Amino acid sequence: MSRKFFVGGNWKMNGDKKFITETIEYLGKANLDKNVEIVIAPPSIYLECVHYLAPRNIQVSAQNCYSVAKGAFTGEISPVMLNDIGIEWVIIGHSERRNVFGETDNLIAEKIGYTVGTGLKVIACVGEKLEEREAGQTEAVVFQQVKAINNKLTESDWSRVVIAYEPVWAIGTGKTATPQQAQEVHEKLREFIKNEISEKVANEIRIIYGGSVTGSNAKDLAKEKDIDGFLVGGASLKPEFVDIINAKL
Ligand code: PEP
Repeated sequence: MSRKFFVGGNWKMNGDKKFITETIEYLGKANLDKNVEIVIAPPSIYLECVHYLAPRNIQVSAQNCYSVAKGAFTGEISPVMLNDIGIEWVIIGHSERRNVFGETDNLIAEKIGYTVGTGLKVIACVGEKLEEREAGQTEAVVFQQVKAINNKLTESDWSRVVIAYEPVWAIGTGKTATPQQAQEVHEKLREFIKNEISEKVANEIRIIYGGSVTGSNAKDLAKEKDIDGFLVGGASLKPEFVDIINAKL
């Protein structure tokens, strides 16, 4: 089963107009692997601008959205609005949303269910904290996170979801999971999806890795059979993002 390699760049709350111009310029000039699906996620205030400027081989994603079309939800943006401005992807459940803003498995699952129902595609983030890994709970945590999402999706909805496995202890810390550590979780997650959802979804879904991916460690991670790409934070703000996109070349 061949799954298209997927690389997302999560800019988090970084960037300004000058940064956008410079980044789009070097991404536009770079020789990017044509077999890779590439998505960049700027802060919501810049979504339309980046969408307008980005080369055609680069899609644009929001970093978050809420689970209703419109209404009295100050500060939120809706999937319907994202559709309206031509944005096709949203990151939901990033560990910073979970751990800084207190989003629960249930809220995240609600948001993913609603968003996928509007026709958007979702990068759904899961991952364990350091203390959970040390307590041997990695699988239980990520399985529970995926199970909560599955409660809100039909089998066919999963075709519009990419799962990002992002161990919280590896995000922004410079501590990357080894290719073996990441592969182990990805493989178990795929097996869980096979048993819990279906063999078809397990075979087709992209499970990407996130957590201190750089231009120098991407190639080794990309060799693992269940690693179908990356979600990149810090390094997506630098020209080395090109090396990460081209990790399979
Ligand atoms: C992320 O924000 O999803 C992430 C993986 O960050 P970093 O690459 O900086 O660890």
